Order: sequence, then C-alpha cells, then structure tokens
Amino acid sequence: MSTIAENIAKVGVRIREAAQASQRDFSSIGLLAVSKTKPAEAIREAHAAGLHDFGENYLQEALDKQTLLADLPLTWHFIGPIQSNKTRPIAEHFAWVHSVDRLKIAERLSAQRPAELPPLNICLQVNVSGEASKSGCHPDQLAALAQAVTQLPNLRLRGLMTIPEPTDDATAQRAAFARLRALRDGLNLDLDTLSMGMSHDLEAAIAEGATWVRIGTALFGERDYGKA
Ligand SMILES: *Cc1c(COP(=O)(O)O)cnc(C)c1O
Repeated sequence: MSTIAENIAKVGVRIREAAQASQRDFSSIGLLAVSKTKPAEAIREAHAAGLHDFGENYLQEALDKQTLLADLPLTWHFIGPIQSNKTRPIAEHFAWVHSVDRLKIAERLSAQRPAELPPLNICLQVNVSGEASKSGCHPDQLAALAQAVTQLPNLRLRGLMTIPEPTDDATAQRAAFARLRALRDGLNLDLDTLSMGMSHDLEAAIAEGATWVRIGTALFGERDYGKA
C-alpha cells in the first residue's frame, strides 16, 4: 500500500500531465482532497505533504475532524447534500460550499453566515446527466437560481459543480464536463470556478476546464462505509 504522500505525488503528476495536454496552467487547477470517512490523522498526513483544501460530505463527521485539526491552517469545503436544518453550522464552519442546488439553502446560508467571516464561496451543483435520482439543479433552473444567489449579501457565487453519472468512456466523461462549462459560460456572470472531476475522471474534467478536482480514493484509498 502506498502512503498518502506518495498518492499525492501521483495525483499531482496526473493533474500536471492533464494540464499540459490541454495547454492549461497547472496552477489554475486546485486539488481538493475529499476526506469523508477518513480519520483526522489522514488529513494531518495530507497537510504535512502539502495539501490545504479538504472536502467533507457529512456535517457531524466534518465538525469532529475540524475540532481535532484546529491547530492546522486548513480550508474546509462542504461538498455533500444539504438538509435545510443543517445550514447554520455549514455557514459557520466552512469556506466553500460546492453543493447548493436550491434557493432556500442559499438564502439560509447567507442569513446564517457570521458577519465577521468573509462571504461564503458557493458553487451551484447542476445535474448534467439527467437522472432523476441525482442531486443538483436541473439545467433549465440554473439561470434563475444563479441570478437569485448573486443577490444574497453573504455569499459569493464562484461557479458550478457536478457529479456526472460514472462512466469509463472518456468521450462521455468529457461531454458531461463540457456541458457544465457551457452552462457556466452561458450565465455571463464572471464565474471563475468549475468544480468537476474525481479520482476516475480528473483528466477529462481538466481537459474541459476544471478549476477544482475533488479527489478522494486516489489520495486516501478506498472508503469503508461499514466502519464510518
Ligand atoms: C466522495 C466524493 C468525491 C471523491 O470521489 P473519489 O472517486 O473517491 O475521488 C468527490 N466529490 C464528491 C461530491 C464526493 O461525494
């Protein structure tokens, strides 16, 4: 088994090569380490190996790790589904939220963002694969949602996020990510962020303009949900 530091180096090579292949600047692509189900020690190890941004899906688990890691200068991103009764701790304890898919959640995050903190960075999650079961707003609803979110005082709308239907077909991977990029460009809102690409499809996402790739398994190994 390889160590987290070795995995980070390998993922770094993949990001660098993908950036090169599409003539993009390596530094324009952020590595968001997805640490859900992994212990605080794994995050500590990843930070020691150079990572600063960590993504979590489950609120209580994230808050517990934040307490254990309060001595480190980490940037926390919430990337999981959001229940409206859980918005306050998210507004208080994260710098980014990638998974906003309806106005009610955005309104609550804005109202509950503490005044002493900078605006909360927001990505709107869009369902580009068209499956009823997946979270994310429908592309037809995106423009209205984005417009409304730009009006909220304590949020800063940065861009879009998607989790496409998993596929090993590189052409299909790219088509889904291209769709998100086109939706972002079509909004004409000066959005600098595309949060897309995971362990199995980061190359396709970078080819289509990803600015955050959200990587779990390739950094920390397979997740064991039984133990979590
Ligand atoms: C778990 C998760 C990831 C990481 O997926 P891997 O395939 O393990 O890299 C990325 N984004 C979101 C929203 C996730 O829930």
